[in-house]
Amino acid sequence: MEKNGYKWATNKHEFNMENKKLISIVLPAYREEKNVPFIYKELQNVIKTISDRYDYEIIYVNDWSPDNTWLEISKLCAADSHVKWVNLSRNFWKEIALTAWVEKSNWDAVITIDVDWQHPVKYIPDFIEKWEQWFDIVYNVRPKIKWASMIKKVSSWLFYKLFNAISEVRIESGTTDYRLIDKKVVKIFLSFTEKNRLYRWIVDMIWLNKCPLVFDALPNPEWRRPSYNYIKLYHLAINSLTSFSVFPLKLVWYMWLLITIFSSLLFIIMLFDKIWIVHLGFTNLAIVVVINTILIWVVLMSLWLMALYIARIHEEVIWRPLYIVRDEINF
Ligand code: UDP
Ligand code: MG
Repeated sequence: MEKNGYKWATNKHEFNMENKKLISIVLPAYREEKNVPFIYKELQNVIKTISDRYDYEIIYVNDWSPDNTWLEISKLCAADSHVKWVNLSRNFWKEIALTAWVEKSNWDAVITIDVDWQHPVKYIPDFIEKWEQWFDIVYNVRPKIKWASMIKKVSSWLFYKLFNAISEVRIESGTTDYRLIDKKVVKIFLSFTEKNRLYRWIVDMIWLNKCPLVFDALPNPEWRRPSYNYIKLYHLAINSLTSFSVFPLKLVWYMWLLITIFSSLLFIIMLFDKIWIVHLGFTNLAIVVVINTILIWVVLMSLWLMALYIARIHEEVIWRPLYIVRDEINF
């Protein structure tokens, strides 16, 4: 920036002597001792092709892996000052590990990649190219998942249909965490404080100028159990629905309406049955039992829905830190 004849540096980018743009590549790692050096080598091959135009840092966030992941990362840190390392104090789970880097990076763009080979690093230049064309968020979308099970496909389809029907924000199906976000997106991302979070959906919420890159992310390798099994996916779905929409609370009102209409109709039929033409032969006890069962179901369902939100409020108001850092190396 030119001002009164002096050149003022307004951001980190302008301090850079060669005026290269700065790119952060972030890799959350849990039980990845084999993959940490492997993906580093792969990254070097790609970085070679862009290093004349961009400066870079590689941040490994070690989510307190019980294996030798830390050792592999520390070897890379000692050998290459571009490699940085954040060590969390315990296992905070992938979404939080992904969030942990954001506070560390003050760079022009950030790219997030899984360490387990699922996200082919050869596409990094494509992400950057789209970003240079003024997109703030460049994200990977899978064309069609061939390797997922039928149950997973159907439940995923149902979830996205339901979510987009009842929530004010739209989320896209088939997207992955393999993303590039501009630093203005990082800034907005940091203002989201919820503890129950999914990185890609918060980014989806921010929206801005998005550009999908369609290519197949690979399935989880056989030796790795996916972070999300069916039970975790169920909790994730419930958490997401309750954090993006209050429709389930309003559902109680719809149920009340439905029961009112249903019981009024039943009451009218019973009147006819007792005093007039038709004789369907309901016993009084049968009618009472059925109505009571339905009412109890509605009351329990309503309580469950409210409990979901109260649990969320409880989690959010106790203001614990999102994550705790034990070490930061090469920063
Ligand atoms: N990961 C993490 N903490 C965890 C679990 C996973 O940082 O508690 C990392 C993992 O090392 C990988 C990425 O998050 O780089 C994706 O994890 P995973 O493959 O288990 O997730 P999925 O492929 O099922 O989404
Ligand atoms: Mg994986």
